[in-house]
Amino acid sequence: MPKIVVVTGGVVSSLGKGIAAASLGLLLKARGLRVTLQKLDPYLNIDPGTMSPFQHGEVFVTDDGAETDLDLGHYERFTGVSVTRSHNVTAGQVYDAILSKERRGEYLGSTVQVIPHVTDEIKRRIIGLSLTTQADVHIVEVGGTVGDIESLPFLEAMRQLRLEQRRDTLFVHVTLVPFIRAAGEMKTKPTQHSVKELREIGIQPDILLCRCERPLSSDLREKIALFCNLPTEAVIDATDVGSIYEVPQVFNRGGLDERVVRELGLEAGEPDLGAWSDFVERVRSPRHQGVVGIVGKYTHVRDAYKSLIEALVHAGAAHHARVVVRWIEGEEIEARGAAELLRDLDGVVVPGGFGERGIEGKVEAVRYARERGIPFLGLCLGMQVAVIEFARHVVGWREANSSEFNPAAPQKVIDLLPDQAAVTEKGATMRLGAYRCELREGSLAARAYGRSEVEERHRHRYELNQRHAAALQSRGLVLSGKCVGRELVEIVELPDHPWFLAVQFHPELKSRPHEPHPLFVDFVRAALERRRARLGSDRVEAERGGAGGPASKPGSPDPRWQPAGRTPPGDA
Ligand code: GLN
Repeated sequence: MPKIVVVTGGVVSSLGKGIAAASLGLLLKARGLRVTLQKLDPYLNIDPGTMSPFQHGEVFVTDDGAETDLDLGHYERFTGVSVTRSHNVTAGQVYDAILSKERRGEYLGSTVQVIPHVTDEIKRRIIGLSLTTQADVHIVEVGGTVGDIESLPFLEAMRQLRLEQRRDTLFVHVTLVPFIRAAGEMKTKPTQHSVKELREIGIQPDILLCRCERPLSSDLREKIALFCNLPTEAVIDATDVGSIYEVPQVFNRGGLDERVVRELGLEAGEPDLGAWSDFVERVRSPRHQGVVGIVGKYTHVRDAYKSLIEALVHAGAAHHARVVVRWIEGEEIEARGAAELLRDLDGVVVPGGFGERGIEGKVEAVRYARERGIPFLGLCLGMQVAVIEFARHVVGWREANSSEFNPAAPQKVIDLLPDQAAVTEKGATMRLGAYRCELREGSLAARAYGRSEVEERHRHRYELNQRHAAALQSRGLVLSGKCVGRELVEIVELPDHPWFLAVQFHPELKSRPHEPHPLFVDFVRAALERRRARLGSDRVEAERGGAGGPASKPGSPDPRWQPAGRTPPGDA
């Protein structure tokens, strides 16, 4: 059986528990151990697929077609290991399984209760994954904050797990040590309370990861250790950093992985962080920079575009460049016009999305990028909007649309296929997960990927309507990617444009620091080229006060690893 490390969080949400778990995974992997990460989510939805991005952020899709929590994206990006549907367990799934069993009569004679039935089902899912992955260490992140009513059954299951496997489990608790300006001091009380709460439900944490703006003094660490009942060395700083990718190094310096390995009695070498440090250095000290506009609908909820932001960071690093993101609402373009908002961009991305709001602004953005030769990358909805724009302004079908936005459009260039039209339930019924795609020889897609077939992850209902494919092609739209074994268009592009490509899938989900996604790498290359052509240079030094704004500290714009109130670096 693998060793199990349980990661919980206290005081407030959004402390970056997922990044902490992923960072520990990376450190243990760098020591030669096999690691798997699993997320337990205490909400009652079966999966986050039916939740709004405003509430939940991005829905991360796995190869096997599960709609999961965005922390699974961090797990994949940090450890390089692909996860599956079993890596995300929700209270909804647990109760669903129990209630079905109850109806089948599998509990005949008993009263079905939280303890033991719910807790057993939770443990069954953890142990099941441990057995299938055969990892050395299984990291289990418990969603929510200690003290939430919803997470109680999950924490109780963890308590039982420790009772059953005392020597093979370890509890890591992520807390906050805030700096109170009025007092000019860092305060340990919230951490003390959070640990007290955990201990009340029978869990004594073995390690505390203390999120703080500035390093903890030894006095403070001793105080926390004394009040929380653990050794001083088990109180580890999680000081704010410029980029989430620096977190593993911070933890390593604080002795986290060393302690985990020792406490669990694992045999492991010293961690090899060479390649990771090189990547972090590229992110921290870029030589070049370009400004890319993301035209979306959830732009003030950055979590909604998590994987996209990271894919741009990875692709930027591949060119020693920082990609500065400018966030643009589709509706803002409708109000102010594309020229004003997109004029000084080096690239435009229209990402995935649902629903009609802001669509006309996105169509305008695509039109502007197409007509002005600005590198354009469309993702999922972004491809659908690109097809609508082409149909309207190149083919001349003024009212062409997607049946998602106008079911009465004269040309529904994007439409539901019969299998989707017949769908009655909303949950897990989209076209989900990995499908193979054939690339057209000599196309931009084939050149960027450097291969003739790829596999990418999907999450959509609507498709390019084959009835209109010939008309679109005859006017110059190249359909350069096709689903293997099915007549579905996966990629469209424009050959007489510096870089114009849009895909029905989500390449951003597969980008990783050491394996930046080829489409993003080529898109960013084209964007930097445009910047050089436009301004004579894409050097970072040349930028101060320039179109991209003053050069801010580079890094992945994740506010969870920055002091409160600071603008995420990389934003413009
Ligand atoms: N709303 C579109 C569809 O369902 C696009 C989905 C997406 O961008 N993920 O097909």
